[in-house]
Amino acid sequence: MLVVGLTGGIGAGKSTAAGRFGELGAVVIDVDAIGREVLAPGGRAEQGVIDAFGPEILDDHGRIDRAKVAAQVFGRPDRLAALEAVSHPAINAELDRRLQRLAEEGQAQVVVLDMAVLAESRLGQLESGRGYTCVVVVEAAEHIRLPRLIERGLTAEQARARMASQATDGQRRALADHVIVNDGSPQELVADVDRVWAALTEGSPARARG
Ligand code: ADP
Repeated sequence: MLVVGLTGGIGAGKSTAAGRFGELGAVVIDVDAIGREVLAPGGRAEQGVIDAFGPEILDDHGRIDRAKVAAQVFGRPDRLAALEAVSHPAINAELDRRLQRLAEEGQAQVVVLDMAVLAESRLGQLESGRGYTCVVVVEAAEHIRLPRLIERGLTAEQARARMASQATDGQRRALADHVIVNDGSPQELVADVDRVWAALTEGSPARARG
């Protein structure tokens, strides 16, 4: 079972690429969604985050309000580090559980971890050895990402701030086994994902079968 870390800057087309990998037969795990789950009531990181940030991040029902957490950490590396010190081990533990189950089931040939945060931290790197062993990066120039993000409801200012808070293209590229440049049409993106899929599944069959 090959585990692929799929990442890209916001608006680059990572989720669209993940969807195509899914159509081609990959099991796609939405790591950003696991990040939301661990903060939900009863989630693995709920109490740790409340302990670290205090009651001001709770909503009227006593649940973690992710927007309040985001407001506390945005542009404050020390607070972001405090959040990640609790949330990332929790996300990795859940990821490990899911990957172990998939490995035991023996059906998945390729698992794609759809994760915005890869180059920035140890997310997806698991002590069990079950984490990603291959990185695919989706990239697009900022002037192409900006209108996509505005279409999605962000202001230009918000979009620029989000892009600036993430790893740079260079940092992601340094980790990449495959780079998909998504500055053309959606059809070109699909063709590029298909090309990478062929390399992942045919180019190194022993690795892909695990
Ligand atoms: P990410 O997950 O990297 O933030 P998405 O895959 O959600 O990015 O893509 C951002 C937006 O851009 C989406 O609305 C998507 O449909 C659109 N998009 C992605 N690739 C292309 C492309 N090649 N041409 C036009 N629009 C695209």
